[in-house]
Amino acid sequence: MDAETLRDLDRRHLWHPYAAAGAAGAHPVAGADGVRLRLADGRVLVDGMSSWWAAIHGYNHPRLNEAVRAQLGDMAHVMFGGLTHEPAVRLARRLSAMTGLDKVFLADSGSVAVEVAIKMAVQCTGRGRLLTVRGGYHGDTFGVMAVCDPVNGMHHLFSGVLPRHVFADRPPGGYGVRPGAPAGEEAPVDQAYLAHLDEMVARHAAELAAIIVEPVVQGAGGMRFYHPAYLRRLRELADRHGLLLIADEIATGFGRTGEMFGCDHAGVRPDIMCVGKAMTGGYLTMAATLCTAEVAERIGVLMHGPTYMGNPLAAAVAEASLALLDERPWREDVKRIEAGLADGLARAARSPRVADVRVLGAIGVIETEHPVDVPRVQDIAMAHGVWLRPFGRLVYAMPPYVTGDQDVAAITAAMVAATAAPRG
Ligand SMILES: *Cc1c(COP(=O)(O)O)cnc(C)c1O
Repeated sequence: MDAETLRDLDRRHLWHPYAAAGAAGAHPVAGADGVRLRLADGRVLVDGMSSWWAAIHGYNHPRLNEAVRAQLGDMAHVMFGGLTHEPAVRLARRLSAMTGLDKVFLADSGSVAVEVAIKMAVQCTGRGRLLTVRGGYHGDTFGVMAVCDPVNGMHHLFSGVLPRHVFADRPPGGYGVRPGAPAGEEAPVDQAYLAHLDEMVARHAAELAAIIVEPVVQGAGGMRFYHPAYLRRLRELADRHGLLLIADEIATGFGRTGEMFGCDHAGVRPDIMCVGKAMTGGYLTMAATLCTAEVAERIGVLMHGPTYMGNPLAAAVAEASLALLDERPWREDVKRIEAGLADGLARAARSPRVADVRVLGAIGVIETEHPVDVPRVQDIAMAHGVWLRPFGRLVYAMPPYVTGDQDVAAITAAMVAATAAPRG
């Protein structure tokens, strides 16, 4: 089908994320290779988004392709109730070794992994409420929507249906690299905020099952980076009050922030951890919820079991993706990209339209003063040969780890241009 036909039929039949049915504007993609997307109309774009944190090794990777192909020859899928298989076993062993958490539940998406984490906490403690911080994002299903930010999230659309959890204030930002800011301006740890956490947890402890947060980086809730001291305090508070700590590492996991996991910035081990997104290298939908042996023992029978649980194709490519990560100098790659993002985005800090510029690991963010015109930003980025997907006041990038310096420079040039130009 030609690009025009695709666009028409797409509009007639398909929903896209957070959009009206029939909304125009989706760009047909014909292929993807390395860090580049090839559009059906022939244009080629450097991917600044890693397909939403996922494609860390780039597209069409020979190792990952081969993992899927080899597994396809054995079986695409078998039910996980009463059956098991080598891809799931290998993946679980590797995830356990990476996280120090022994028990692994394979879920079919990040949102489901967080649902399972919440179920684990409730079954484990017999209590029903969670404490989280404002500005979070944990997915789109009902249980997890209730712990997303109550203002920026979707609570207003579903109020009355969602359980009411406990929200502490948003952690102060300021962690990470601040391009364009004078050196030595790192935000100090806010003692008043630590006291606020102490007070909130103490006040609600008796009804709480767990504390759930995204470690150090709040992703889709605002792309903000907070000091690891706050995460360390939440760990201490959970221990003091007999609560579980759930780390949602779905965006931060597998090297994105410069450490293997967001929790590593704080030297903290959670009781329950969710991973997803980059786990399969962007190939197939699979996520995982991990917990300690103690938590698993207290839970007993865990009441969850998706039809496609442990899907062998997804497990095989996830195992290959994590093996590849293990072999690659990802830490250097992420450091190099961090430096490239910081260098390229420094110019944006001087624009009167820009409120803040921040970089942590292979994540670069320009926060604008006013909400951006998304199609316009995308047009400017595409004119620079780059694919970006901004939202709200955030123009940001988290490129694949294999992105070369010139392509990182193209991404930052596109971000700077898109936030500097006067509104059309
Ligand atoms: C994306 C994301 C989720 C949801 O994952 P899906 O696979 O989209 O359901 C949950 N938590 C965090 C932190 C995420 O970034």
